[in-house]
Amino acid sequence: MSAYSRLLAPLDLGFTQLRNRVLMGSMHTGLEDSKAHTERLAAYFAERARGEVGLIVTGGYAPNVAGWTKPFAGTLSTRGAAARHKPITDAVHAEGGKIALQILHTGRYGYHPFAVAPSRIKSPISPFTPWALSERGIERQIAAFVRCAQLAREAGYDGVEVMGSEGYFINQFLSLATNRREDGWGGAYENRMRLPVEIVRRVREAVGPDFILIYRLSLLDLVPQGQSWDEVLQLARAISKAGATLINSGIGWHEARIPTIATSVPRAGFAWVTKKLRDALRADGIETPVITSNRINMPETAEQVLMDGAADMVSMARPFLADADWVKKARLGRPESINTCIACNQACLDHVFEQKIATCLVNPRAAHETLLRIDPAPARKKVAVVGAGPAGLAAACTAAERGHAVTLFEASSSIGGQFKLASKIPGKEEFTETIRYFTHRLWAAGVDLQLDTRATAENLQGFDAVLLASGVTPRIPKIPGQELPHVLSYAELLSGAKTVGERVVIVGAGGIGFDVAEYLLEAGHSLTLDEAAWRRHWGVADPAEHAGGLTKPQPAAPRRKLTLLQRKSGRPGSTLGKTTGWIHRAMLKMGHVEQRGGANYERITPEGLFVTWGEKREGGELIEADHIVLCTGQEPVRELEAPLRAAGIAVTLIGGALEAGELDAKRAIRQGTEAAAAL
Ligand code: FAD
Ligand code: NAP
Ligand code: SF4
Repeated sequence: MSAYSRLLAPLDLGFTQLRNRVLMGSMHTGLEDSKAHTERLAAYFAERARGEVGLIVTGGYAPNVAGWTKPFAGTLSTRGAAARHKPITDAVHAEGGKIALQILHTGRYGYHPFAVAPSRIKSPISPFTPWALSERGIERQIAAFVRCAQLAREAGYDGVEVMGSEGYFINQFLSLATNRREDGWGGAYENRMRLPVEIVRRVREAVGPDFILIYRLSLLDLVPQGQSWDEVLQLARAISKAGATLINSGIGWHEARIPTIATSVPRAGFAWVTKKLRDALRADGIETPVITSNRINMPETAEQVLMDGAADMVSMARPFLADADWVKKARLGRPESINTCIACNQACLDHVFEQKIATCLVNPRAAHETLLRIDPAPARKKVAVVGAGPAGLAAACTAAERGHAVTLFEASSSIGGQFKLASKIPGKEEFTETIRYFTHRLWAAGVDLQLDTRATAENLQGFDAVLLASGVTPRIPKIPGQELPHVLSYAELLSGAKTVGERVVIVGAGGIGFDVAEYLLEAGHSLTLDEAAWRRHWGVADPAEHAGGLTKPQPAAPRRKLTLLQRKSGRPGSTLGKTTGWIHRAMLKMGHVEQRGGANYERITPEGLFVTWGEKREGGELIEADHIVLCTGQEPVRELEAPLRAAGIAVTLIGGALEAGELDAKRAIRQGTEAAAAL
């Protein structure tokens, strides 16, 4: 019997059956927004269907112009548009999969001047103030949802998901914060919930009984004036009655200031809310299957959620960017071979916010299946890869899988490079999964891994090609006194080689400076691994006691007095990730970390760091500290390049060895994969 028997059990929906309990949740990739990308989308979804996902949900499509996410966003409102979806649904069906189209009306989140909402109230995350809808306008929006669902059916979809959560249009009707109407669509909750109920009822009427209709219901709004738990239940009952086949969980509006999907959120950290809903529905005799979501990325977590009775089905979105074969690998009992989503958002959500096509840090082929092809090598070469950091690991595996004979040299006693240090940061525990994945993949691909072996120009003789992935080393700045014993690099701290006292100055406020601050604040107790403490920290409450699930955050008293400095003027943290930077900034604020820009590091003394401020070097002061941690960027390691070239050996630099500035694992893994794909 499989270790994941619940997860892999079929789900009978009466008129159709899903092959397992795994839903690929909706993700905007950017491919939805252009007609030119149909073939790419078809290949992307087909690969996930081949990987045995039970039911795929597409990225959101607007039912009309008013519902656009941004100008000319993907819309399904005409028969012509429906016809263009046919290659997608055909490709998924050819692989034995099922696919539903998500209908997403953004309401006041729309990044365009035609946005509409129940009331004329601007959202904090869009510069456009929406138009308040008339009653006729509301009817037009409902009609657009119905038409969109009918067109989805015509296009060959197996169903639709009506997006009712995350603070979008439908959700905006439900909360008094965004719905101040005084007609039959506002005021009492019965009126505010009329919109979703009408949409589901009329969609069901229009598409018939044998079409999957998922309703994504906001279980926790996580904003002030969010719905009470009684209201959530009232809506769930009504939605079931109106004809929903499945109820999916939505957690938090986009404007909520509580992390809901970042890597620092505990695994399955919101499954308890779905359980609360499911228990209440079952107590009422309502059997509509419910789907849980958020930060579920490995089969044992998914199975546990089902075993706990928290849900009938599990939604995972980003894990299918990371690994199209996730379900298949679980079925074959090979979870160790899963390329785990580390919830970093760096290549998916951040890309979408930067108007780039989404992909995945750990899988650069995601949504690029037709562009980044890994084909068998035309001739087997003897390839050496130097360095087993992210760049070298991706390169060695890809080259070996293509049929090359690959030797991977690593100077230290384990693989991972700087990523090993990253995994020590509280809230980045998931990074160890990537190292586990590569450990397995190296073995499966037959790479000859030589640990504790520093590659030299001598032992690289005889290879047809060398990929130099020797990475980076911490930059040592030139601050007088930096040789004193209480000064250390981030690498010495995170590797455990040195420890620090209670007052610490962190020099350098890039991603690593922030990470080090969190490491020192949490001092060995990761909130991510302690769900109750995490909820207290961020102020997530039982929605039956606090409307919207929001209460006052109660962060623990800081364990250290930290000062974080940078040379450039302004407040540190402006270069952090688009969708996660605010979380790191909030963590440091809650930890009372003093953050200052415009610092000149004059000298380090046994008492601390003496600084002046600004170009005029004003206000000299000593910041007292037990230790000073240097997080001042990195320099490339590539001393092998010149001797190899002199010896006539073909060498390609990848990752940090090529360019240390603004390096991250996304670039390192992509370059490693691309270089090996080209060998
Ligand atoms: P490296 O990781 O530096 O690996 C190089 C490897 O080569 C090392 O293992 C080294 O021992 C080996 N080597 C060097 N010379 C030789 C030789 N001659 N012979 C044999 N082996 C050799 N990135 C992100 O994308 N997201 C994050 O959230 C993130 N957080 C981070 C947090 C911290 C605390 C740190 C330190 C880094 C973080 N990073 C993050 C950065 C990320 O880890 C690096 O960008 C990435 O590891 C660079 O990969 P690389 O393979 O180019 O080099
Ligand atoms: P970084 O972002 O370049 O920051 C380096 C810091 O050191 C900056 O504050 C810089 O700003 C300062 N600095 C640079 N040279 C200095 C010098 N000679 N003397 C004193 N200060 C100096 O690099 P990092 O923090 O080392 O991070 C490395 C890479 O890892 C980043 O590029 C990032 O992409 C990746 N990373 C990502 C994440 C993530 O969450 N996505 C987290 C961690 C790391 P000033 O010059 O203004 O002082
Ligand atoms: Fe997951 Fe990061 Fe890949 Fe996004 S980029 S799918 S969060 S691993």
